[in-house]
Amino acid sequence: MNEFVETLLELTWHEPKSSYDVVIIGGGGHGLATAYYLATQHGITNVAVLEADYIGSGNSGRNTTIIRANYGIPESIRFYQHSLDLYSTLEQETGCWIMHATKGLLWLAHTESAMRNERARAMLNTACGAETVLVDPTEIKALVPQLDLSGGGRYPVLGASYHIPASTARHDRVVWAYAQGAMQRGVHVLQNTPVTGLIRDGDRVVGVRTATGDISAGVVMSAVGGNVSQIAAHAGVRLPVRTHPLQAFVTNGYAQGFGPIISDTELLCYISQTARGQMLIGHEYDRETSYSLQSSFQFLQANAIKMSYLLPFVRDLKILRQWTGRCDVSADFSPIMGFTDVDGFVITTGWGTWGFKAIPAGGEAMAELIATGRTPELIEPFALSRFAADHAMADQGSTGTR
Ligand SMILES: Cc1cc2nc3c(=O)[nH]c(=O)nc-3n(C[C@H](O)[C@H](O)[C@H](O)COP(=O)(O)OP(=O)(O)OC[C@H]3O[C@@H](n4cnc5c(N)ncnc54)[C@H](O)[C@@H]3O)c2cc1C
Repeated sequence: MNEFVETLLELTWHEPKSSYDVVIIGGGGHGLATAYYLATQHGITNVAVLEADYIGSGNSGRNTTIIRANYGIPESIRFYQHSLDLYSTLEQETGCWIMHATKGLLWLAHTESAMRNERARAMLNTACGAETVLVDPTEIKALVPQLDLSGGGRYPVLGASYHIPASTARHDRVVWAYAQGAMQRGVHVLQNTPVTGLIRDGDRVVGVRTATGDISAGVVMSAVGGNVSQIAAHAGVRLPVRTHPLQAFVTNGYAQGFGPIISDTELLCYISQTARGQMLIGHEYDRETSYSLQSSFQFLQANAIKMSYLLPFVRDLKILRQWTGRCDVSADFSPIMGFTDVDGFVITTGWGTWGFKAIPAGGEAMAELIATGRTPELIEPFALSRFAADHAMADQGSTGTR
């Protein structure tokens, strides 16, 4: 964190102790939210969050901030709807302004088969408690007057599903809100402290190795974003996870207000407006696996063109910034939360391109799991053991564009 940010927050930094009840590896949203809920809901404060760099330096500070629950399977819809609900009261709960704004999300369809998908999505979402309706081109135009309904003559808009409670929140403020709430209750957050290995005693993980010494722990949780395969390997745990780069970019400010978030099932890209008026554009993750944080010109070119078919005004904007994150993507596109085969070692991973919205519910559930030793019902379907049991939670709707 930089000095300016620190003036906005009440953070007390600590020297590391040699032992904690819980050590969390990774100071992104999931690690910090888990620490926060351990302290606030279970009174467990002898906790350290070890972050390799600065908190929020991973995907939690790089994402496009979309919060939604319009997923493709009931288990996911219920989980993300709970997270969306927690987000809506997070400012009140933490006393921190996270710039939460409800915008609604249009998921555009250009073909009859895409319309069938959106109709099915709207019905399933509604049945599982995530408010989503089907809208026709006239209703879409009323929501987004800037949209070219002919899609540049190539991608005519036939309709959309409209997920009304979808929202955004400022990503790093979410990280800071959880960090501050946890630290005020006694949690130690240690920045610039990469974990280099895990300490094992027989079949159990009993601590972590860092450059400044070993730290023992009752429970170790991995919340390391794009680096989970490496950390899990130290415990001898093999995960059905691949790491892919994911890119995004913002333009300069667009003078007009732009209402909802728009996602496109055929063009596989999405757009929203930031609080500063900039247009924020993202796409699916890169096909090739990599730990690279390099951004590409092809990505910029392809997505700028695609967006200009739908919203001709973006042609007149300038691209200000482009960046990349590392996404852990599981074999069925759903997250993996919970126990592993190794005692004392729990994980939260597989957050791919969709884990920002899951931070409150994921953190709350992992805190309960650690505190009680039992898996909360809400996250039971997302256990690692589902792969061995051949019970995949296949949901390509996870990616935000399908
Ligand atoms: C461009 C982009 C757009 C996205 N858009 C959205 C979106 O609109 N909506 C949405 O819901 N999700 C989105 N996501 C995904 C979302 O950002 C992530 O799923 C989420 O932030 C994951 O949070 P995390 O806490 O698990 O990981 P991270 O925030 O990545 O945190 C992991 C932390 O672990 C640290 N770490 C790694 N290795 C070690 C180690 N050995 N020791 C100690 N610390 C370590 C890292 O430095 C990092 O800070 C997007 C991601 C990207 C990249």
